[in-house]
Amino acid sequence: MLRYCLFFLLLTSQACFAGQKVLLLNSYHSQYQWTRENIQGIQQELSKHIAEENIFIEFMDSRRFIDDPVHINALASLYRNKYRQVRPDIIISTDDFALDFLLQYRDEIFPDVPVVYNGINFDPSEKLLGKKGYVGILEGEAIAQNLAMIANIHQDSINEIIVLSDKNSLGELFSQEVLKVQKEWKNKKIKITLNNDFSYESLLYQVNNLSQNKAYFITALHKDNQDRYFSYTHDIPILTRYSKAPVYGMWGSPLMGLGIVGGYMNNPKTHGANAGQLAIKILSGETVDSQVQRKALFSPRFDARQLNKFAISQHTLPTNSEFNFIEISLAEKYQSVIYSVLIIIFVLLLIIIILSIQIRKRKIAEGSLAELNNDLEDKIVRRTIALESSNRALLKLNNRMEKLANTDDLTLIPNRRHGHRILDRLNYIDNSEYSIALIDIDHFKQVNDQHGHDFGDQVLQHITQTISQCIRPSDTICRWGGEEFLLIMPDTKIEHAQLTCERIRQIIGSTPMPPLEKVTISTGISNKTLARSNNELLRQADKALYNAKSQGRDICISWQN
Ligand code: GH3
Ligand code: MG
Ligand code: MG
Repeated sequence: MLRYCLFFLLLTSQACFAGQKVLLLNSYHSQYQWTRENIQGIQQELSKHIAEENIFIEFMDSRRFIDDPVHINALASLYRNKYRQVRPDIIISTDDFALDFLLQYRDEIFPDVPVVYNGINFDPSEKLLGKKGYVGILEGEAIAQNLAMIANIHQDSINEIIVLSDKNSLGELFSQEVLKVQKEWKNKKIKITLNNDFSYESLLYQVNNLSQNKAYFITALHKDNQDRYFSYTHDIPILTRYSKAPVYGMWGSPLMGLGIVGGYMNNPKTHGANAGQLAIKILSGETVDSQVQRKALFSPRFDARQLNKFAISQHTLPTNSEFNFIEISLAEKYQSVIYSVLIIIFVLLLIIIILSIQIRKRKIAEGSLAELNNDLEDKIVRRTIALESSNRALLKLNNRMEKLANTDDLTLIPNRRHGHRILDRLNYIDNSEYSIALIDIDHFKQVNDQHGHDFGDQVLQHITQTISQCIRPSDTICRWGGEEFLLIMPDTKIEHAQLTCERIRQIIGSTPMPPLEKVTISTGISNKTLARSNNELLRQADKALYNAKSQGRDICISWQN
């Protein structure tokens, strides 16, 4: 609800100014900085209430055409024609020239239109006597205040303050004020001199060559004594550049930055804003006492670079001074950048250090890992060699045991176990035709009984050797048990086996074994082709051997189905 009320109030306050027209009448031209900033201040306030198209701005250009009656008449004629068609509701005049013009022409050109004046340096009460509808703000001046301050700052280094003015109507007003201050001046060490009659060149010469122990103060300068326009923006920088003495002023922003040291200065924008507020009050129907003269504020303001140039200590300046153009050292200007860069460098260094430490640690770890690897490899190689040699020893042992397991102790020929294995192997070979022979020593029990067991062993060894010498490398003679042998003959037909066995029988039978005259053997032969299995084959050979024994021994008999 409150929000709607506020909105309504805003609407009505806006509405009461709707269509109201304001004329800004400026004494000077639009490029003059004081005027420019003053208008900004006025417009800043007006724009809150007045439509842009209802503001009319006139520049009377009196800095360049001062005290020119033709120019004034021409302006009157222009405004007469123009504002007959559009009547302003209020006029804001800036500076003396515009106010003087209105005092002369307002009642004719703008009858009954109220006037708010500003930019007036000297009390206009006398001019306004008997005039109605004039109210305004006194811009004033701060000549006495500034001269006292300059004397205070330079009390030990100067003996004269030269005040610059001109001979135009406004300049005369300032000159009079200077003479007033001069009269009341009590400082014996420093004198005040008014200079309002000089050519620009002579002024330049003076500030450059004759300014020792002097200070300058500018009041109002519109033209030199040759009637040449004095431009603040163009001429003051040259003046201050050539001047060996400090130059002070009081017109605020238009002077600051042009080489002026500073001074008690006013602020054209604030001054304009105050005038704008006053105009709005009148438009809104408020009654304003026409006798009230509001004085503009002059405050101490200095150019830090000029203070430096003239070695002016800040202690000699008023305590509430404002400083412009403070020179910042490169280090101060780029302080944040420098800090940021330093922090970045520090962080990068930290990262580099941490990474270096990590790399170093990793290298050390890699070194010890490589050492460990080498050790491990050495150990593995040593263990492998040791394993290899023990493997070989085991293999040897194994071979030896295998050999022992398959060898008969007494005769050192393959035993029955080995004989079975050979037979099994032969049986696996397809279509292999092999023959076997069971050989048994005749009446061996008697040999033992008559000549002892040891002798019997020697007989067994002797017969083994004899048989081994009679057979082919591919044949195998095994000790089958006691005094019985099995002869295996691969790829041998039964007839050939018969022949081999016969030859063995004959050799053994014909070899004496003292004290025995001879030892005989009986043999039973069979062939694989005659049996379905090795067991049957062995049974057949055994039967053949039995037959040989039965037939009187010392004989070889082949199995026949
Ligand atoms: P036959 O002509 O019928 O074969 O008569 P034999 O006496 O040879 O047969 P027998 O089976 O009656 O006797 C075999 C003997 O062989 C008995 C045993 O003392 C002897 N003998 C068996 N093995 C060995 C041995 O390793 N060394 C010795 N010295 N004698 C053995
Ligand atoms: Mg026997
Ligand atoms: Mg026997």
